[in-house]
Amino acid sequence: MKNQVTSINQASPAPRKRSLKWLAMGFVIFVCVSLICMDGWRSWTARRTQLREMEVSTANMARAIAQHADDTIKAADTALLGIAERIQVDGTSPAALERLHNLLVLRTAELSQLKGLFVYDENGRWLVNSLPTMPSNANNADRDYFIYHRTHEGNSTYLGSPILSRSSGIWVITLSRRINHVDGSFAGVALATIDIDYFNKFYDRFNIGKAGAIVLVSNSGTMITRRPLLPDSIGKNMKTTPVFKESSSKALGSFTVKSSQDGVKRLNSFQRLDKYPLFVSAAVSEDEILADWLTDTYWHSAGVALLVIILSSVGFYLIGQMKLRFNAEAELIRARDAMIDLNKTLERLSLQDALTELANRRNFDLTLEEEFSRAIRNASSLALIMIDVDHFKQYNDLYGHTAGDECLRKISQAVKSCQNRAGDLTARYGGEELAVILPTTDVEGAILIAEKIRQAIHNLGISHAGNEAGIVTVSAGVEAITPVRNLHNPVELIEAADNALYAAKKSGRDRVCSNLNLVRIAS
Ligand code: GH3
Ligand code: MG
Ligand code: MG
Repeated sequence: MKNQVTSINQASPAPRKRSLKWLAMGFVIFVCVSLICMDGWRSWTARRTQLREMEVSTANMARAIAQHADDTIKAADTALLGIAERIQVDGTSPAALERLHNLLVLRTAELSQLKGLFVYDENGRWLVNSLPTMPSNANNADRDYFIYHRTHEGNSTYLGSPILSRSSGIWVITLSRRINHVDGSFAGVALATIDIDYFNKFYDRFNIGKAGAIVLVSNSGTMITRRPLLPDSIGKNMKTTPVFKESSSKALGSFTVKSSQDGVKRLNSFQRLDKYPLFVSAAVSEDEILADWLTDTYWHSAGVALLVIILSSVGFYLIGQMKLRFNAEAELIRARDAMIDLNKTLERLSLQDALTELANRRNFDLTLEEEFSRAIRNASSLALIMIDVDHFKQYNDLYGHTAGDECLRKISQAVKSCQNRAGDLTARYGGEELAVILPTTDVEGAILIAEKIRQAIHNLGISHAGNEAGIVTVSAGVEAITPVRNLHNPVELIEAADNALYAAKKSGRDRVCSNLNLVRIAS
């Protein structure tokens, strides 16, 4: 029972330590995974923020560019309106045209986006312009804008596609108005040419990175200009491009698309002009937008990876140390238990007689001392039986020493079997002499037990030719005492019991003696 309890106590800490080890491992893994997840989340949100900020930035850029285009064209349009008005009021007399020429020169000088201002009569002939000279026999009746105004009665401004100027040879866009006679019939066209390079110079001021692009496109899908300007940019048909498709249905917006031309993924923001059939789009390469973020993320990830490596290494090293400590502790516990077991065995062996397995002399002395003290404390009677095998020397001589040992063992077990109470002690006093300590037993009770022992040996019926009875017998001396402190001692009890034994021997053996009075129960 005691052993079971011990083993349960030893078994329970092991699973607790195992679960502690798993808990520590779980904690290290949890911390590492949390670090990675948190940094991943931080990087992801930083990327989203970066893209959102760039979307706002490109949308603002598109708005500014659209406003600029609107203002540029509006200024030219206002100039045209004044010219048409002047012609309708002053007519086309040489004097009026001379005055108008001066006005056109002034206006062109004033508005830097204007390349030139021109007036044509109803046949397309040049009437007046802002140039220093007038080309002779020049006729623009074949131009789109001229045909448009001749065939449309309305007063609306006509914004033409990019063309190479006949007068200057550079790319311009045309803005034109119809001039009417007093009766409302077609009198000609007032035309302003806007230098496309004027837009380009403005677009150069924006930082759109190396792979960015700004485009100005007509609602009909013709590209007016682009930054950076490619050889085929001006006048290019944009109808099939994602930029045109995305922006055709809405006034403004943003979208990301991979360019079919160069494969670059760009964030585009477009804005339609308020007053004219044009829209602009500002695009920035996603790789360039995210370049800083990517560098930042690389550094962060490297830092987190390093941290995770250090954390997990230290964590698992400590767990390893913990495991070693647990193992060492378990070893110590095992060694301690083995030591306890060994001590118990040694203690048992030190108190037991090897041959008879009865208590040995040392045990007898200690127990008698203890019981003597207890009897003093309790004022109770303590009895002692001394037993000696009769003619045992002769038994050895007759049957041999080994048989003598075996005989002693049998006698010892027989004596032990007569022990009634747990507190009684049967011991080998020495040689073939045994002793029984009987606490809280008076002399009468002890005599009864001694007699029972003597009878039990008889009953063994071990042949002994050298003994009077023909079998092995024992003699016993009994003494009991109610000891008083400082008056009696254990040795006196032993001597008294020994004396009684001596008396039993002397009076013929195979008998029990007490207080020098022979008590004999016939066999
Ligand atoms: P008595 O009836 O007077 O006691 O005669 P006895 O022969 O028994 O007396 P004695 O004390 O002279 O002899 C005791 C003998 O017991 C001596 C010894 O040979 C034997 N003996 C003592 N211890 C052991 C033992 O452990 N084994 C064996 N086989 N014999 C033992
Ligand atoms: Mg003897
Ligand atoms: Mg003897």
